[in-house]
This record gives sequence, C-alpha cells and structure tokens, in this order.
Amino acid sequence: MNPADHTTPPPPDPAASPPDHTTPPSDEWTTPLDLRDPVNRWLDERRDDAIDLLRRLVRARSTQGHERAAQQIVAEHLRILGLEVDVWDPDGPTLSNDPYFCSPRTDFGGSPNVVGVWKGSGGGRSMILNGHIDVVPVGDPSQWTRDPWAADVDEGRLYGRGASDMKGGSVSLLLGVAALRSLGVRLKGDVIVQSVVDEESGGAGTLAAIRRGYRADAALVPEPTGMRIFPKQQGSLWFRLTVAGRGAHGGTRYEGVSAIEKTLPVLAALAHLETERNARIDDPLYAGSPIPVPVNVGSIKGGDWPSMVPDRVTLEGRLGVIPGEPVEAAQAEMAAALGAIADDDCWFAEHPVTLEWFGARWLPGDVDEGSDLVRSLSARYRDVLGEDPVIAASPWGTDAGLLAAVGDTPGVVFGPGTTAVAHYADEYVEIDRVLEVAAIVALTLVDWCGVAR
Ligand SMILES: [Zn+2]
Repeated sequence: MNPADHTTPPPPDPAASPPDHTTPPSDEWTTPLDLRDPVNRWLDERRDDAIDLLRRLVRARSTQGHERAAQQIVAEHLRILGLEVDVWDPDGPTLSNDPYFCSPRTDFGGSPNVVGVWKGSGGGRSMILNGHIDVVPVGDPSQWTRDPWAADVDEGRLYGRGASDMKGGSVSLLLGVAALRSLGVRLKGDVIVQSVVDEESGGAGTLAAIRRGYRADAALVPEPTGMRIFPKQQGSLWFRLTVAGRGAHGGTRYEGVSAIEKTLPVLAALAHLETERNARIDDPLYAGSPIPVPVNVGSIKGGDWPSMVPDRVTLEGRLGVIPGEPVEAAQAEMAAALGAIADDDCWFAEHPVTLEWFGARWLPGDVDEGSDLVRSLSARYRDVLGEDPVIAASPWGTDAGLLAAVGDTPGVVFGPGTTAVAHYADEYVEIDRVLEVAAIVALTLVDWCGVAR
C-alpha cells in the first residue's frame, strides 16, 4: 500500500469543464438551431476528453456488484458541472418487497445509484436522461482479441466490455449536458441525469430511482440502438418449464415415458405460440424484423444416464412482450398454449408442463410515434446529421419500460452503440457516434425543456 494513495485527489475530468463564464450566453440562443454550431464546436474541441472519460468508465469494470468506482467517476463529473448530486445504495430489503422488483440479489452495498439534477428556471418540461452503469460479464476471454478492460482506441472505435452497452451512450448524455452547461445555456425545465445499477438483470437501479421520487415529463435511454430511434420497446420475461416423464431402464424403455420425447410437443407449442403472437403484430415499426417479438428457449437440461429413460427435462427461455400488451396477458397466453398440448397428447392431461416465471423481467414501453418527444428527437437528429432518422422498435427490453409503467415517465430509446456488438466479444463503440448523440441530446434538451431568457 502506498500511503500517498489516500491523499491523491481524483484525476481531473476535462470533459466536465465547469460552466465557462468567459463565453456569456448569447441572447440569440433560443432555439436548437441557434445552438447547433456552438454545441458541435464545443464537442469537437473536447473529443480527446470524451475518449478519456469513456476510457475511465470502461476501465472501472462495473460488472454487477462492482459499480462503485465507475459511479464515482460519473458523480464527480456531475458535481463539476454544478448539478445537485444524489448518490445512494438502493435499500435491498425495501426494494425486494416492491411488486416491480426483479433482481437476483437483494443487497446493493457497493452498487450505488447516481442522480444529478440540473434545476430549470421553471415553466418548462423536464427530462430524465437514464443510462445504466452495469455491464455484462466478459464471457469467454479467449473469444476476445483485445483486453476487454483496456479501452483500446483503434480507427475511431473504443473497445471494451460496456463500450456499446452502454457507457458510450452514458458519455453522450454527460457530454450533452456538459456542452449546454459550459456554454451557459439556462433551461426552463429540469434535467435529471441518472446513472443506475442493475439494468442487465431487470432494472432494480431504475426502480430504486423511481421510488426515490425521480419523475419527469419524458425520458431518454441511450441503449445501443445503432443510431435508430425506438419509441417502442418490447418487454421480456424469463420462464422455466419442467416437462415430466417416467423413468425406466433403457433396455426396457417401453416401460417408461421419455421426458426428452415429451419435450418435442412442448417446443412445437412454443414455436406455434411465437408464430401466432407475431402474426398479430402489424405495427410498421416492426416491418424490418423477421420475428418482432421472439419466444426463445435458451437452455435445455434433461436426463442423467445413457441407459435410463429420462424422467424430467427443464427448459429456460424468454418470452417477448408486445409493446402495449399487459405482461399478465402475455403470461396467460403462454400458459394456455402449454395447457393445450394435452388436447393432442393425454400424457400432458395428467402431467401438465410446469410453468414458472423467474429471474429477469423487462416491461414493454410504448411512446406514440407522433408524440412531441419523438418529433423533437427526430428533428434534432436531422439538425445534427442532415438526414432522417430510422424509427423502429427495440428487439429487447430496457429500463424505459419501468420508467413509463412505474415512474409515469414515457421514454424513447436512442443511443450510439450497436446491438450487434453489445454482450459479445470485442465490443466497441464508434467515437463519432458518441459525439453525434451528445449533440442530439443537447439540442433535444434545448427543444424539450425550453431556454430561459
Ligand atoms: Zn444496456
């Protein structure tokens, strides 16, 4: 131990330069277009600082239970910007009694949430900017060609676990706010920057922030959408099925009933359920998706011995929930589909498939495409990138579902990372996209919250 470690101040965070009063706010800056060039210039000049901030966040290795170091970086950034910063460890016992709670753990020590509030002058609409700091594990390290925690930069990409999902997006939020603060812009509505834990296992961090009282007129969640805007997000529920058989010696297998063979009609029923549910979806936002709301079986375990008839198979998977569909309706439809197997196979009348809902759950989210929020974000996208955004629906669940259903804060998902690399080896984010989203976020805040005169 080097005793000097205890007295070393945290490194400076140039990406969070405090409000720059040498550039007084221009009275002409009242619309997003007025601010486009100043914001872009400010971001261009801080490209290296943005890379540095993202690097430090990736290197902080914030897998579940280890989020504190990364959260300290975020909290420090928000403090330098002059926001009111709230840091707390979610209270496990209270949270785990919440009907919307979903997490494999109930102790959040070492996993603080961070929220920074930029109070508006009043009379404007408020916005929550919600990024999650937790990242999924590295997985098989041999599949990586780079050190997942080194945050290498190569040809405009920053590599590392969490770069795309979603520290790149969180840096976009932090930079967007930093640009406006540094340019001296004053907003009418409040901006609430949230860096939450536990999104990857069902949203306990966002739930804790909602229960702490944070609400707004809208939310923006920069998950890796590949620069597409997702007004609708599908929900996702984990299920476990147990298929019963009757054990016997393999040499007299006709005396038993193979749970593995009985799993075949179960898989067929799930495939049929998926087809039926997706046939009902005529939302044009899903037009580009081969299976808008999948039912996926992720694991099958069954049988103990080559010479035995297996008496039990367990399947685990995820059921997609259609935006706007009550979770209970999706659950009931799946239960009915499994119950109907008995119509064709009387074994199941006496040995019905057991269905459990366990583990993670993400609620669906749904904001109207014609809403002010989507229109504003789309217009600012055009301001910055000179083209129309792609509007689509998400293939996965996000914390936007909780924000809407529990926090009464409808949200849109839009971020610089890409799903194709999130959760995979050699995850990366393109730095240009991080800066572009930062500019779009800044201008959307100007538009949504309004500029105080
Ligand atoms: Zn994510």
